[in-house]
Amino acid sequence: MCGFSLFVFGQHKAGKSKRMYSGAEDINKIQYSDDVWRSMLDHDAYQILRKGHTEPRHSSALTNEWRAGKYYCKGCDLVLFDASMKFDSLSGWPSFNRHIIGHLQTYTDLSAVPPQRAYRCVRCGGHHGHLIMDGPLPTGERWCSNGAALRFVPS
Ligand SMILES: [Zn+2]
Repeated sequence: MCGFSLFVFGQHKAGKSKRMYSGAEDINKIQYSDDVWRSMLDHDAYQILRKGHTEPRHSSALTNEWRAGKYYCKGCDLVLFDASMKFDSLSGWPSFNRHIIGHLQTYTDLSAVPPQRAYRCVRCGGHHGHLIMDGPLPTGERWCSNGAALRFVPS
């Protein structure tokens, strides 16, 4: 779990947080109408973030991105992953075995058959991918992400 606290505290704002999630950050939620989201986002990011779509396997250049840096939500620029959390899952999607605590929220994707555990950005509510428990130890987690919904900034 090394490294989490650095990011959490780096984003922490002064004041008391009443949030229930583990990051204990005071992240103000962003809400826009569907029309605004459609105008703000490129087509692929809109389909993923706002409609829960999944990009085609191997379609994102971020799948094979291995530079140091950070991955941000394309909807609201909240940092979601550090490159140190990324691993080669061979799945064809950018995959992470950890995330920035408090910046993603899991939910049940009932549109999948069978229903799958999915996750969204806590700030804008944008769908990012599915959490599958076939990742490497110690977490066993694979945060299977859509690269078109992420913005990578190399450090
Ligand atoms: Zn977001």
